[in-house]
Amino acid sequence: LRQPLFIGLLHDITHHKQSEDALQRAAMVDPLTQIANRRHFDSFLEKEWQRAMRSGQPLSLVVLDVDHFKLYNDTLGHPAGDACLQRVAGAIASHALRPTDLAARYGGEEFVLLFAETGAEKAAMMAESIRAHIESLRIPHPRSTTSEWLTVSIGVATIHPHQLDNTESLFVAADRAMYVAKEGGRNQVRATSTGGAALEAVKALVMR
Ligand code: GH3
Ligand code: MG
Ligand code: MG
Repeated sequence: LRQPLFIGLLHDITHHKQSEDALQRAAMVDPLTQIANRRHFDSFLEKEWQRAMRSGQPLSLVVLDVDHFKLYNDTLGHPAGDACLQRVAGAIASHALRPTDLAARYGGEEFVLLFAETGAEKAAMMAESIRAHIESLRIPHPRSTTSEWLTVSIGVATIHPHQLDNTESLFVAADRAMYVAKEGGRNQVRATSTGGAALEAVKALVMR
């Protein structure tokens, strides 16, 4: 009785672990489209941003917005709109091929794609093939004034991250380019490239 006494307990936590993993996955995925959600994208971008600052490699952000989507819903109904977002998401995600790429639904009918270690020219080419891919799905859009099919407008921004820049500035540049694509007639890609800290130095590159 003077000897210390030990009691070992074994618990099978497989189920606990499985539900924990499922919860973690659910927190990262958009329920409608099953691609990454905004939260997952933001943390992925933060990590890639830090890595790009160390490596000096460029980062490219692609922002996509479905054209005349309110009209699509109003004409064909919200469930048809949902199905359409699922197809668009699938098409976009099929272009994120490397472990350093991530496609996400950022909100509503707006999607984003990060291409790490990717310069402006390559990113603009990728964006153009996504635009063409979505057009080639030939999803009828009866009331669009842009095309008889559903289309997207795309903005691309490329940056060599610097201590003075932040991820916000990359979003501002890509969003701006996307609005230029809308104003230019939709169903097109516009790109900007920033060398570093100065957003004013954003240079417009006409793609189409
Ligand atoms: P623009 O070409 O200028 O982008 O016009 P738009 O009609 O696409 O833009 P607007 O911002 O006016 O409308 C966006 C629409 O997207 C309105 C909203 O009902 C729809 N939407 C947002 N989220 C969802 C969703 O989860 N499902 C469906 N079906 N529609 C959605
Ligand atoms: Mg929008
Ligand atoms: Mg839209």
